[in-house]
Amino acid sequence: MSQLDALVCPSCAAALPLAASTSAAGGLACRHCGAEVELPPEYVEAARTLARRVDARRQLEPLWSRLTSPPSWRWTIVAGLAVWLLPPAAVAAHIYLDDAAYTLASRLAFAAIPALLPGGLIAVVLSIWVTTAIDNAEAMAAAAPEDDGAPPRCRGCGAPLEVRDEDLIASCGYCGVDSILAGVTLRARTGRDRERLAHSLRTLEDAIARVRARRRLSLLGAALVLSPLLALGWALRWAYG
Ligand SMILES: [Zn+2]
Ligand SMILES: [Zn+2]
Repeated sequence: MSQLDALVCPSCAAALPLAASTSAAGGLACRHCGAEVELPPEYVEAARTLARRVDARRQLEPLWSRLTSPPSWRWTIVAGLAVWLLPPAAVAAHIYLDDAAYTLASRLAFAAIPALLPGGLIAVVLSIWVTTAIDNAEAMAAAAPEDDGAPPRCRGCGAPLEVRDEDLIASCGYCGVDSILAGVTLRARTGRDRERLAHSLRTLEDAIARVRARRRLSLLGAALVLSPLLALGWALRWAYG
């Protein structure tokens, strides 16, 4: 999408959001002074594109909310219980299954420490999911309004955004970038990292793709860590069983 300059009200010079809803009328009303501003043809076309974009984006918003809502507290409890209960249980099983031939060190190495992993891995996976959602929300946050009562501004081009009450995200009619409006900023991520991320996430589709890729990666990582342990356990069983 090519970028257009933000429209400016000819009577009061306020920057105007391009509104999807007014494309049919061919004009915009200035929020400051109420003047009717006629849209040049390329802006009428951009307003139509914006209307299609808003429809497509709204279809994705429930999926976005689902992917970025915090994981159930039950998972935190599962991880905590696993960390607390599995190591003693594994050592008890080790003692029960084998006689005193094993040293304390080997009980730690083959039972207690491996048994810490499932709970630890659940905690790591959960934290990757949560931080990915926060990273995205921060990188895509709308810019603050120019003054009180004005709408938030596009994080891409700085133009005011057309915002409806129920919207979580607003799409810019001038540059095509999506900005997140709500539920932002728990952790300050500064500098170039955040800028790079903000550039790579232009739209909600980009953000959803990133969340999914990070989730797959974290699960794959957990599986990669667990699988050699399972293999080791099996080999020990085979060797000593
Ligand atoms: Zn005006
Ligand atoms: Zn913009």
